[in-house]
Amino acid sequence: MNHTSRHTQAVIDLNALVNNYQYIDSLASNSNTIAVIKADAYGHDANKVALALSSEVNSFAVGFIDEALTLRSAGIKNEILILEGAFNQTDLEIARVNNFTLMIHSDYQLQWLKSTAAEFSGDIWLKVDTGMNRLGFPVEQVDSIISQLSEEQRSKLVLCSHFSTAEQIKNTKPLAQLVALKTLVSKHHCKFSMANSAGILNWPESHGDHTRLGLALYGVSPIGDSPITQALIPVMTLQANIIAIHNIDVGETVGYGDIWQAQRQTIIATVAIGYADGYPRNAKTGTPVFINGEVAALVGRVSMDMITVDITDLDNAKIGDTVELWGKNINIDIVAQYSESINYELLTRVSKRVPKVISG
Ligand SMILES: *Cc1c(COP(=O)(O)O)cnc(C)c1O
Repeated sequence: MNHTSRHTQAVIDLNALVNNYQYIDSLASNSNTIAVIKADAYGHDANKVALALSSEVNSFAVGFIDEALTLRSAGIKNEILILEGAFNQTDLEIARVNNFTLMIHSDYQLQWLKSTAAEFSGDIWLKVDTGMNRLGFPVEQVDSIISQLSEEQRSKLVLCSHFSTAEQIKNTKPLAQLVALKTLVSKHHCKFSMANSAGILNWPESHGDHTRLGLALYGVSPIGDSPITQALIPVMTLQANIIAIHNIDVGETVGYGDIWQAQRQTIIATVAIGYADGYPRNAKTGTPVFINGEVAALVGRVSMDMITVDITDLDNAKIGDTVELWGKNINIDIVAQYSESINYELLTRVSKRVPKVISG
């Protein structure tokens, strides 16, 4: 898409990104803060995000090798950790050639490692299941898994695990998970990585050798409003323009299904963004949007390409005006609440047809 007729776009503030990275990194200053940029950097454009951070960070992390190859093609030279590791034996050779660091979470991956001639210069990351029950070796198997590594591999060992409830500050499970991992770490005198964003913010004792910073890097809080997240700046502003304005009478309805009916003379603005752009179809009447310094409410059902907004009480909203759906003025958490979703899902679902535009 070279011609842009619509102004619907996700504006990406790379200064905010670098600010957030430096801030979170300063909270875990003894750890290597790995920037997690899987899923196209949570919808922010992984290549642009990686290029902006490449001189700031040592390491990036992505889900699988395809995502890492895209980064190498864009000229990224940093270490790249592959969080789900190899999906097939060929991935090991690709990882060796491109200098990717593979997570080993299952026995079949360990067998591939043992049967390959490939030598990896990077660390050997072993995933331990301390209670997420999604990926990783059970705690009681870890000794025997480690015994299958060569001495050279053992010297580069990083034991890794993942919190299931790190955002819940009153929950006792995060510390139990951490203790389970740290027990293995002391026994094997190796490095470790436990903390995701919520772990970094809520559980300083989990920082370890490497943290894995995802959501908070993008200026969005995994733990809700908190003094420690005040310094984060939202990186993405999702915006679109008003393309029509209608005056409607009491009793008239707006949009599909006639689910919203005017209780007063109402001015409705039609905005050029819909669920095909990743704006959640579930967003209920009342979901806030931001227009010219004022907040207005979504009314009626979200369409594929458009939403409708009640601008009756706004001083000066006109055709062509920019509407912020989320960003620095509309907290994405509020939109998530109104649409029964979460900030992570909203960010990663911004669709391909929305251009990611660098601000400034
Ligand atoms: C996605 C992911 C992260 C980052 O999590 P955030 O909550 O976004 O900080 C960390 N570790 C693993 C294994 C992940 O898959």
